[in-house]
Amino acid sequence: MEESSSTLLQIETVKENCKVIRENIAEAAIKSGRKPEDVRFMAVTKTVEPIFINAALETGIDLIGENRVQEFLAKEPELHLEGVEKHLIGHLQKNKVRQIVGKVDMIESVDSVELAAEISKRSKTAGITTPVLIEVNIGEEESKFGFSADGLEEKILEISEMPALEVKGMMTIPPICEKSEQMRQNFSKMRQIYIDINSKIFNNINMDILSMGMSADYTEAILEGSTLVRVGSAIFGPRIYR
Ligand SMILES: *Cc1c(COP(=O)(O)O)cnc(C)c1O
Repeated sequence: MEESSSTLLQIETVKENCKVIRENIAEAAIKSGRKPEDVRFMAVTKTVEPIFINAALETGIDLIGENRVQEFLAKEPELHLEGVEKHLIGHLQKNKVRQIVGKVDMIESVDSVELAAEISKRSKTAGITTPVLIEVNIGEEESKFGFSADGLEEKILEISEMPALEVKGMMTIPPICEKSEQMRQNFSKMRQIYIDINSKIFNNINMDILSMGMSADYTEAILEGSTLVRVGSAIFGPRIYR
């Protein structure tokens, strides 16, 4: 297939962006007293065409995140996914669970006990265990999915007792903030909750993933302890929704 010169240019831009972001992640990780490899770099691929996703993967990215079940399943055959982990990061409807269980390595967007129960049920039927993250609505925003910090511990305990499902950590999308200071406050609050709950001894919970930070705020998130940043537009440019 012949690529147009604008496509080739865009591919180069994607690769360059990955390189710069990887350097920024390493720098922030070191500043936070950790090693660069302690923070995972996810490429968020919603709305992005496979050719550009593959360009990012060529730079060594080993983790992608998709928001929608249908879109992921449609693009998957065209992606070069050997050695690449796939996470679902968007709100998941219960009636789509059956289609995605076993197709991704983790579901980061568990935002209700009912959804967790459905994932557990479908995973059990499929004879697998699905690793999940608990999505927390740290800003308590009406417009966002996720558990409230209030009563979170009980909910996590309930979910962790479900079979065929493994709680690996937490994920959050904080409110949009302009100031670095405000971003860090939300991330810090999230981290405290993660640490508090993690320090309680629950037999079946071993959380080591704190997924927070996107294009606009991944540096702040890492400085406040993120172990996984989910970056889309800073790699691929603004999203075009069709
Ligand atoms: C789209 C999305 C991202 C990436 O957002 P950018 O601002 O483009 O980096 C990260 N996490 C989730 C859950 C998303 O839906």
